[in-house]
Amino acid sequence: MKKNARTDFGLKREPQYLHDANQLPYLSKKEKAELKKVADKFAFRTNEYYLSLIDWDNPDDPIRKLIIPHPDELKDWGSLDACNESSVTVRKGVQHKYQSTALLLVTEKCGGFCRYCFRKRLFLKHIDEVTYDINEGINYIKAHPEINNVLLTGGDPMVLGTGYLKKILSALHQIEHVRIVRIGTKMPAFNPYRFINDPELMSVLKEHSPPDRRLYFVCHFDHPNELTDVCREGIRLLQQAEVICVNQNPILRGISDNPATMAALWNELSYIGVPQYYIFQGRPTRGNESFEIPIVEAYFKIEEAKKKCSGLAKRVRYVMSHASGKIEIIGVDHNYIYLKYHRAKDIEDEQRIVVCYRDDQASWLEQLKPVEGYANEFFQGEEEQGAA
Ligand code: SF4
Repeated sequence: MKKNARTDFGLKREPQYLHDANQLPYLSKKEKAELKKVADKFAFRTNEYYLSLIDWDNPDDPIRKLIIPHPDELKDWGSLDACNESSVTVRKGVQHKYQSTALLLVTEKCGGFCRYCFRKRLFLKHIDEVTYDINEGINYIKAHPEINNVLLTGGDPMVLGTGYLKKILSALHQIEHVRIVRIGTKMPAFNPYRFINDPELMSVLKEHSPPDRRLYFVCHFDHPNELTDVCREGIRLLQQAEVICVNQNPILRGISDNPATMAALWNELSYIGVPQYYIFQGRPTRGNESFEIPIVEAYFKIEEAKKKCSGLAKRVRYVMSHASGKIEIIGVDHNYIYLKYHRAKDIEDEQRIVVCYRDDQASWLEQLKPVEGYANEFFQGEEEQGAA
């Protein structure tokens, strides 16, 4: 492999997957031994194509930080299930948190394992949360007419074989009250050849994206370096298959927290018709401390990025995906942080505003003290905490 290569792969190439840190190029034996200790705990996976995006001469390369294990992951910080997904798991591999939305966790594999993944627990050997038999999930959705949209996730559903994906999409299409199917995927970034090399997949997607029931791809691009020519070709094929693509990603220290880089990503995505949908506050997940950014810092960086974007590129919402709901951070001033429940586990909370004292160190709802007249029942700090 050529050092600093961007994409010297032909469009027909099938990149090989790597699971062993010892297979990594350009690292010393000592470095590989250190990485192996991390990968023994939190699985490592990538492929030749994605590795080719790394500038190995730059220790702070964002793609390197995203995919290559780091000893900081072994620090005892955060929780394996930071959003308490177990409390909304209604069947094996089926989550039902918001009335109209169900999640099917259909695989525990991805095109690569992001080091900051909030579902990294799924990749642990002793965890068995995913379902490879979707019948129970399909029956659950059939019995709940309030569910009008289903998110296929995991893991990354695009690692599944085309035949199995077709089976899942067809089963969902036969349920009349399901009007939207979304697929959460980082495959257009990790391995766009998945779309380029499989015309049958593209026809299956097209077949399940008719004009009145569009199929959505919720893509996961973190950095403009991922938007290679090969990737753009993958996106073009998806759009040709009538799939609607949007993007969402977390704001992460050293990967996606630079306002100029964020703006470049959102602008580029708007040019290729993949609008940025959400940017997430990093969940306090086990081993993710080095990626964390306080809410106030993240808010101002996002606002700075928005200034460099067209209106179409900055439709993004900055949200905290908390156990109680998807909470939008709508503003920060000298004294306060203004939050709004964009989606809520308890429907009564939907659209509820919460105003908290500004705390420049806080990175999660539990650390935000509510102002008198507003409720934050999750606040766990000291009474004196907060500004003003
Ligand atoms: S692609 Fe998604 S599910 Fe897979 S490791 Fe990355 S963040 Fe986690």
